[in-house]
Amino acid sequence: MSAIDTLPPLREVIETHQLAARKSLGQNFLLDLNLTAKIARQAGDLSGCDVLEIGPGPGGLTRGLLAEGARRILAVEKDSRCLPALAEISAAYPGRLDVIEGDALEVNPLAHLRPPIRVAANLPYNVGTELLVRWLTPKAWPPFWQSLTLMFQREVAERIVAQPGSKAYGRLALLAQWRSDARIVLSLPPEAFSPPPKVHSAVVHLTALEQPRFPADPGILNRVIAAAFNQRRKMLRASLKSVSPAIEDHLVAAGIPPTERAEQVGLEAFCALARSVKSEI
Ligand code: SAM
Repeated sequence: MSAIDTLPPLREVIETHQLAARKSLGQNFLLDLNLTAKIARQAGDLSGCDVLEIGPGPGGLTRGLLAEGARRILAVEKDSRCLPALAEISAAYPGRLDVIEGDALEVNPLAHLRPPIRVAANLPYNVGTELLVRWLTPKAWPPFWQSLTLMFQREVAERIVAQPGSKAYGRLALLAQWRSDARIVLSLPPEAFSPPPKVHSAVVHLTALEQPRFPADPGILNRVIAAAFNQRRKMLRASLKSVSPAIEDHLVAAGIPPTERAEQVGLEAFCALARSVKSEI
């Protein structure tokens, strides 16, 4: 396959800048630029968008996103060792890549981005899940992002797209599916990374809906779902006792048998339950 740009291959970049992967930063790098371009294509049409990339590392995905036409990328990277490699990419794509050195859980890059904004990232698992939950639960909806294209451990990706009745179904699926369309768009074996992680990975693409799929108060819905899945083996009339003393009435009003368990209940019914609980306040 032909090269996606005129910059050196990533193995050379890593050697030149001595970017030995650090486990503490969850560094499993993607070195195949045709693969990173393929991941970038899953993010949709980037030509008229600013892209927020978290954890660019040596820049494999960054180069994919630029080659696929991103208008501009703002990248947030915690590891200062990566900055010189990213500066080389920035020089090859003048005015299209800015890098903030910092922890994505601490910095707020929004002031530096112009809508429409797409997010793309290959992040350590714990940081990725924490950021996903934050991106799915902003104070106001629609959120700042139009889409999220994120690499996860396959098991986490399956939790995001899970349907009722499956073991993977829970809070993450409900949060994601309430206000976005979520799909697994690519699966990757450990060998796609250097060093290879222990588990398989998958890319999830989430598109923000203009409005939540069903009406509900976000705070109450969150409380109901958290309580329901905290004790997922229990019947809802027991696990949701803390939510309301009249929980059995609310379950019936929402069309949910009080003896049902959380993993059998779909998103629409959880939203109806949240609305009924709200009516009591
Ligand atoms: N995007 C690159 C790629 O695909 O090859 C690197 C992926 S590597 C799995 C994760 C990257 O996220 C590393 O570069 C790491 O330094 C960075 N990182 C880890 N924790 C971070 C955090 N809290 N904030 C920003 N970047 C972080």
